[in-house]
Amino acid sequence: MKDLRLYDTYTRSVREFKPLNPPGVGMYTCGPTVYDYAHIGNLRTYLFEDILRRVLEFNGYKVKHVMNITDVGHLVSDADSGEDKMEKGSRRTGMTAWQIAEKYTEAFKQDMVSLNILEPRIWCRATDHIQEQIDFIRCIEEKGFTYRTSDGIYFDTSKQPDYGFLGRLDLEGQQAGARVDMGEKRNPTDFALWKFSPKDQQRQMEWDSPWGIGFPGWHIECSAMSARYLGSFFDIHTGGEDHITVHHPNEIAQTEACYGTRLANFWMHGYFLQLEEGVKMAKSTGGFLRVQTLIDEGYDPLAYRLFCMSALYRAKLNFTWDGIDAAAKSLDRLRNAVYEWGEPATADEEFIDRFVDQVNDDLNMPRAMAVVWELVKSDLPPAVKKATMLVFDRVLGLRLGEWQPARINIPPEILTLAFQREQARKEKRWADADSLRSQIASAGYVVEDTPEGPRVKPK
Ligand code: AMP
Ligand code: ZN
Repeated sequence: MKDLRLYDTYTRSVREFKPLNPPGVGMYTCGPTVYDYAHIGNLRTYLFEDILRRVLEFNGYKVKHVMNITDVGHLVSDADSGEDKMEKGSRRTGMTAWQIAEKYTEAFKQDMVSLNILEPRIWCRATDHIQEQIDFIRCIEEKGFTYRTSDGIYFDTSKQPDYGFLGRLDLEGQQAGARVDMGEKRNPTDFALWKFSPKDQQRQMEWDSPWGIGFPGWHIECSAMSARYLGSFFDIHTGGEDHITVHHPNEIAQTEACYGTRLANFWMHGYFLQLEEGVKMAKSTGGFLRVQTLIDEGYDPLAYRLFCMSALYRAKLNFTWDGIDAAAKSLDRLRNAVYEWGEPATADEEFIDRFVDQVNDDLNMPRAMAVVWELVKSDLPPAVKKATMLVFDRVLGLRLGEWQPARINIPPEILTLAFQREQARKEKRWADADSLRSQIASAGYVVEDTPEGPRVKPK
């Protein structure tokens, strides 16, 4: 197999990827905080991770993919202040925090199906792993990295010389410019491992612990659950670019304190989808686009998948309706072409080689798509094209092999009109053919003449 090269944020370099224990690959993905629907920005990150996983599998590796569900502890501010997002969602909707978690976890899984994102081998919920998190905090405490304040147990980042390396954080600058109210924190970058429940109030989600009743901080779940399912040092850890500066440095700090490893061999990050230059899409600001929004606007969710493949995962991407429109048209062309190629024969090795060169070059999907379109335009026999495209689709995930034109949904009377029009054309009764075409059009359909004969589609 060819070399697979991936960008590692930790070393800020593209490096050759070699599994620690071939052919297995351990991969951990920071999953959704389930207090609301996922927006298509979040899903861009999960799409990048899906392509990564598919490329690893394409290279013959057996990927053990673990994804967490954050259903407790993620506070409104990443700096450990403000309300828990789950409890806030509970106030907004009138449901309990547990019901909210259930509802939005299901919605997230549905979005994954719509976008053909493969399910992780293991799902893990933060609230199902409270004991693991308590044990992990104990371990950090025993190594001397914690202190207690009136509202929780905190990680002392000043005790770790390389704290923040992943984010290349300027700690001295932060310390000097710490205008934010640090409360009882000793350093601006210190973070909560365990938060106490407020004295005067019972939280919906709270547990007993050696330190008092409360709930885990947001970062500890990932260190604890990744260690449980993948060990203390595994192949690849992924998330969105916002995690480079807070969440992932904190995960590394915890795991380094307890096990002395930097958690993962490769750290990979998907860059943000933005609404326009410099404006990120965020759940907290409201007014975000969901997969359902795209469906309501008449788009196939897989058009969004194709749209995301038009950019490198390491570049920000602007969402535009023109962009999704163009992707929908491309998807349509691709599906029709693949359908018309008929039954597959043997794939073309040279094309596959060229495709692999691109996907193995740090997941260069725009270039891989260029190879896809060259294949479409090539003069290879249709059966060879089909077989080759089905191999590509193991990475693309566009379900190209399954698609069929929506002929079955065309009402029989419209098909009859189309048949009569075809007869008229064969008999050169052009006026009749035109009038039949207009009748079809006024019923909301168009007839396209293809080399295989006429095809009726909704307008
Ligand atoms: P959350 O559910 O807020 O924890 O976020 C889920 C994932 O989406 C995380 O990996 C984030 O880094 C990522 N994310 C958040 N906003 C965006 C965005 N606008 N574009 C791409 N990824 C995002
Ligand atoms: Zn995480």
